[in-house]
Amino acid sequence: MVKATMITKDRKPVAERGGWIRNRIKPEQIEKYLDQGREFIDVPAIEQALAANAKPDPKRVREILAKALAIETLTPDETACLLHVQDPALLAEMRQTAAAVKVKVYDNRIVTFAPLYLSNLCVNDCLYCGFRCSNTEESRRILSLDEVQREVEVLAGQIGHKRLILVYGEHPKSGIDYIASTLRTIMDVKVKTRRGWGQIRRCNVNAAPMSVEELRVLNEAGIGTFQVFQETYHRPTYEKLHPRHTIKGNYLWRLYSMHRAMEAGVDDVGLGVLFGLYDWKFEVMSLLYHAIELEKRFGIGPHTISFPRLEPAHNTPFVQNLQYAVSDEDFKRLVTVIRLAVPYTGMILTARENAQLRREILPLGCTQTDASTRIGIGAYADQLDGAQRGEIQQFLLGDTRSLDDVVRELAEAGSITSFCTAGYRCGRTGQKIMKLLRSGKEGQFCKLNAVITFREWLDDFASPETMAAGEKVLAREIAQVKQQMPEVFETFMSYYEKTRTGERDLYF
Ligand code: SAM
Ligand code: SF4
Repeated sequence: MVKATMITKDRKPVAERGGWIRNRIKPEQIEKYLDQGREFIDVPAIEQALAANAKPDPKRVREILAKALAIETLTPDETACLLHVQDPALLAEMRQTAAAVKVKVYDNRIVTFAPLYLSNLCVNDCLYCGFRCSNTEESRRILSLDEVQREVEVLAGQIGHKRLILVYGEHPKSGIDYIASTLRTIMDVKVKTRRGWGQIRRCNVNAAPMSVEELRVLNEAGIGTFQVFQETYHRPTYEKLHPRHTIKGNYLWRLYSMHRAMEAGVDDVGLGVLFGLYDWKFEVMSLLYHAIELEKRFGIGPHTISFPRLEPAHNTPFVQNLQYAVSDEDFKRLVTVIRLAVPYTGMILTARENAQLRREILPLGCTQTDASTRIGIGAYADQLDGAQRGEIQQFLLGDTRSLDDVVRELAEAGSITSFCTAGYRCGRTGQKIMKLLRSGKEGQFCKLNAVITFREWLDDFASPETMAAGEKVLAREIAQVKQQMPEVFETFMSYYEKTRTGERDLYF
């Protein structure tokens, strides 16, 4: 076991760290993917598509909406057209179609997760981030494996999460060995609960870009989705915000991180943009280009797309005066367009946004959201009251409501919170899941597993009010299973009843 460590200063000699930094990037693992030396983000083509579609024709917009509803990826021209819609009535049609696309692919399910920040040590110097190495007011810490275990005991034993996104700064102390051993530690924790036991069953990872060799290690360790956000696809902006001498200063190393993941066998990948750094229309177009590139090259598009918006961060002046700040209205538009442009993908809305905005944005097609969120290092075990502490956080959250509150609100709005993690454990990943999602068939497995895992969660963690709201949802879902899938109903009910008596982790 790694011993508990509170780290305020990184004592490694600078020269030694310099060597580590220089050797991170493997140029040959970028160059092999370039197309005659060119990257796949075609800036002139994006700008041309945006200019050519600045005045969208309503008839064409409706044809594009029909295509999205048939779960087909839109072209750059079609996406540019949607990005320019201003007419309130047409915008309302777009929002309705986005909601319909989500229901067609994912039904009324919302998946919940929690971020777990393991270390805020970082050698990079991203201007917008509280963890940047030049932020001398950040109190640095990397969790020991014992501390990781304590975090998970709270997450899986008290709150009831089954799914985490593990977040790491980039630093020799939190390299691939640390990431793999924390992942294994987390998956091994089992905690007694009210009626059964709790456990994290899926760990997604948000970390710096890695080499193919490191990604193979991550795959072996049992990663779920590998997320790397490009932050901005606009290279001049990227270069301004990420100093050249840092690892993150290499735009192409980051841009091709998902190609390397696919090569290493990690076929669930998550894309994202940090909105507020550059023009949001350009960024949405670039996300589409990235999705199309992955589909074309590997036959698999992004499992998820994230759209974090810049938030204030401790001692981080850059975020106080943003040239490209995205308004709430534009944020809703961009979420709607992403849903329509890449109709099969999961979409993640985070607690960066406040509760009211989350209520408005979730129905635009989001599939996943976090709750009971803490992002300070060690904060689940240490900050049970949910207070935020800027000096150990990457940024400040907009919504710290409990999972119980979020589940109840979703239930009252007619959604079922799914704690299902069966997909990747049954090999439904990559191309297989893409086909199932496009055909609407994934929905069948998911519906059954959503009911069973929701039963588990209610029995183990729900407050009386949430239990009451949840029972109504379950009664309706069970009636639908009986009607829509009579052939599996008997087996399904046997799983359901076993779950009621305390058996856990039953899935289709
Ligand atoms: N260090 C790794 C990296 O940069 O890829 C791991 C991810 S970082 C800890 C998680 C993400 O948080 C970043 O990719 C960025 O998009 C987002 N982020 C950074 N600063 C932020 C801020 N001030 N507000 C909102 N999100 C921020
Ligand atoms: Fe480090 Fe990531 Fe923050 Fe950049 S965004 S300073 S790489 S933790």
